[in-house]
Amino acid sequence: MHGTWNEFLNIVHEEIGSRVVETWFKSIKFERWDSIEKIAYLVAPNAFVKDWVQKHYMQLLQMHLGRLLHVDMPRVSIEAGTRNPTETKKTNAAPILVIPASVAQTKNSIVRANKPRYGHINKNYSFENFVIGPSNSLAYAAAYAITEQPGNRYNPLFIYGKSGLGKTHLLHAIGNEIKNRYPDAIILYQPADRFVSEFINAIRFNKVHTFQRKYHTIDVLLIDDLQFISHKEHTQEAFFHIFNALYESHKQIVFSSDLFPHDIEGIADRLRSRLACGLITDIYMPSLETKIAILKKKAASNSEVIDDEIAHFIASQVTSSIRELEGALIRVLAFATLTKQAITIDLAKRVLNRAQYTKQKKMIDFNQIMTGIYKFYPYSYEVLCSKSRNKELAQARQVAMFLMKKLTDKSLRDIGSFLGGRDHTTIMHGLQKVEYVLHKDVKLQEKIKSIEKVIHTI
Ligand code: ADP
Ligand code: MG
Repeated sequence: MHGTWNEFLNIVHEEIGSRVVETWFKSIKFERWDSIEKIAYLVAPNAFVKDWVQKHYMQLLQMHLGRLLHVDMPRVSIEAGTRNPTETKKTNAAPILVIPASVAQTKNSIVRANKPRYGHINKNYSFENFVIGPSNSLAYAAAYAITEQPGNRYNPLFIYGKSGLGKTHLLHAIGNEIKNRYPDAIILYQPADRFVSEFINAIRFNKVHTFQRKYHTIDVLLIDDLQFISHKEHTQEAFFHIFNALYESHKQIVFSSDLFPHDIEGIADRLRSRLACGLITDIYMPSLETKIAILKKKAASNSEVIDDEIAHFIASQVTSSIRELEGALIRVLAFATLTKQAITIDLAKRVLNRAQYTKQKKMIDFNQIMTGIYKFYPYSYEVLCSKSRNKELAQARQVAMFLMKKLTDKSLRDIGSFLGGRDHTTIMHGLQKVEYVLHKDVKLQEKIKSIEKVIHTI
């Protein structure tokens, strides 16, 4: 099992970086593989790591362990072991994780691969643990209202707002609540980029019918981050038909996006007007008061209490998103726990000020890069992903690969799968080619510079 686990660590390292491996996976032991029941038994050093990994990385575990062990989506059981506390490394640096000793050890749980009918709905995101304030009360009320009579009231519901403000949380909360009220409803949560790759694969493997059938049987469709569908004409076309069919049979549809429908670039007008035909609500950055309430609730769910002054201080430091707010709280709690100090204002100041300096620069994602490419080459996403080797198209594709490698820390495998399921050797070959051409082609050098400039302004 040791070899498999090491291989898994290498993959995660390549895919999402060393921080995740160091912070979470290195401390986990792959205890045993039950090849009959197809269950991988893992042991985490404590309940916190167990819960965190379960909440955030279960799919990743299932996917890669499945591949390494040659089974399709195995079950993964994570148990919280008890480790000798002296084994925990003492550190002065502000760590990224909380390991509150007070977290109660929860029972060993087996997590089954998600049944397709519930399409990966995360139980941890509920209406109960969503803090309401003026910045999100309309979105909350609309989201809650549709769970009473899905498909009948606000359809589609469109929630937009900047990243990290609770859109995904609300979508899952809708899914969970409808599941409670209507246990037989078929609910699918699908991030738009997954929808896109699902569609592209359906075309590649001649499975468009299966794809359509799947979507036509759904009662509630929750599409997250709809902006990823922009500039993907064929996917939009397919989506348009799915949307119409569901809408006409009064099935509930909910979208989230970082932009108002009319501001999403590269969306066909007829689809745009469909998106806007229900209720549109936004979420914005909460006020200081709501931020404090969120901090207190999050601390409580970690079995910690923080007093008003500290909550006020942390809340006033974070202005960008609730995700960052959570991150700041986690750093403070972690530091206090690991250094066995009380949580004081002084401690919070030390941790958060230090974190400011080490904060990573803003990550660029593949879709930003594609937006740059679309501005300089006349191809849609599907055409870029196709097999066609026309010279200019091949160049556009290679430039996309080049920029993805240069501007993100994603692996060749990720780049390949984003660009129509190409394997990593194809990407390597493309990169070599573009680098070779770049040497002598000043025009291309200039073009790439201009594309980069555009990407950085997105
Ligand atoms: P988005 O999808 O808008 O980028 P998320 O839904 O992923 O944002 O939210 C980021 C984090 O912030 C999540 O952990 C979520 O639980 C938390 N969060 C956002 N809004 C709230 C809220 N109102 N109350 C409690 N937690 C929230
Ligand atoms: Mg989200």
